[in-house]
Amino acid sequence: MSNHSYQGVIHRYKKYLPVSDRTPIVTLLEGNTPLIFSPKISNILGKNFRVYLKYEGLNPTGSFKDRGMTVAVSKAKEEGQCAIVCASTGNTSASASAYAARAGIKCIVVIPSGAIALGKLAQALIHNAKVIAIDGNFDDALSIVRELSLNYPVRLVNSLNPHRIEGQKTAAFEVVDTLGEAPLFHSLPVGNAGNITAYWKGYKEYYSYSKINRLPIMLGFQAKGASPIVKGKPIKKPKTIATAIRIGNPASWQMAVKAKEESGGIIDAVTDKEIIYAYKFLSREEGIFVEPASAASVAGLFKIRKEGYFDRFIKDFDKIVIVCTLTGHGLKDPQLAVSKVKSPKIIKPTIKEVAKETRL
Ligand SMILES: *Cc1c(COP(=O)(O)O)cnc(C)c1O
Repeated sequence: MSNHSYQGVIHRYKKYLPVSDRTPIVTLLEGNTPLIFSPKISNILGKNFRVYLKYEGLNPTGSFKDRGMTVAVSKAKEEGQCAIVCASTGNTSASASAYAARAGIKCIVVIPSGAIALGKLAQALIHNAKVIAIDGNFDDALSIVRELSLNYPVRLVNSLNPHRIEGQKTAAFEVVDTLGEAPLFHSLPVGNAGNITAYWKGYKEYYSYSKINRLPIMLGFQAKGASPIVKGKPIKKPKTIATAIRIGNPASWQMAVKAKEESGGIIDAVTDKEIIYAYKFLSREEGIFVEPASAASVAGLFKIRKEGYFDRFIKDFDKIVIVCTLTGHGLKDPQLAVSKVKSPKIIKPTIKEVAKETRL
């Protein structure tokens, strides 16, 4: 194999991860995702802004969850586990089932019935996971699998598993390795809050290794109807169109608050309307199709820009670099996409009719 061929996040960042030569690496070559400059979002924010999009939808199963799963599944295999389990709003189960298939171990996923995007359900099923739908929400599913993993020989691979956070922190490393420095701000959606925890850990580690000489300010965005951290209390029945962040009692709540406080950042909420606006903006204006939850990071930027949040930074910095994590691919939920736009009109099959309709 040539020195240039990419071998996944464990191989690339081995020295920062809890692995050894004895760890059997289970990888689908996750990570190494593009950091795409967004001229249009930069322009909307203002002339000194440089906004980059970390497009995590291009991971093997279509979300950032693969970064954590390669580490969690490799460690489970190293420790001789024959089965893994997770609760999921969709992407964790898609990722767990693919990595379990690759590792040759059993995968059990517990999902809230009727609340999973079709693409994600299809992934878990086709990778041959044992899928259990419960008549409850994500928070109920998580408490069940937590208990299950304490009482049965099965490894929990939700982000409560510290190996997940370890793997996910590699996204922060990649951002720095690409930009050559930390951005001034890092914006991302917040659901169970594992990812904001992981990015913050990654940036802090790179700082401690003197790879960067300052840390970014973290900007986390929940959906308004599922914003326990913003409200300061768990939400019994979280509601939002963005199913990946429809979480009422985040597992990494305290860590997210710590990331916000230590970085001098914010955790705020955006409405479904703001999320859908950003979702459409990304696909129409930048050619990047993400799932609604992912668009919360961009929706949040638009919102706080309008509120004047960046004003004092504009005075102090001549260049404001922002990285936005786009957590998952839009093809996960094609039904939602189609429901948000006009259906194609059916016309007579003639050149004249087509030319007329398309105003050529
Ligand atoms: C899991 C997920 C999130 C939320 O990440 P947390 O670590 O739970 O905060 C956001 N977007 C997508 C697409 C996800 O799959």
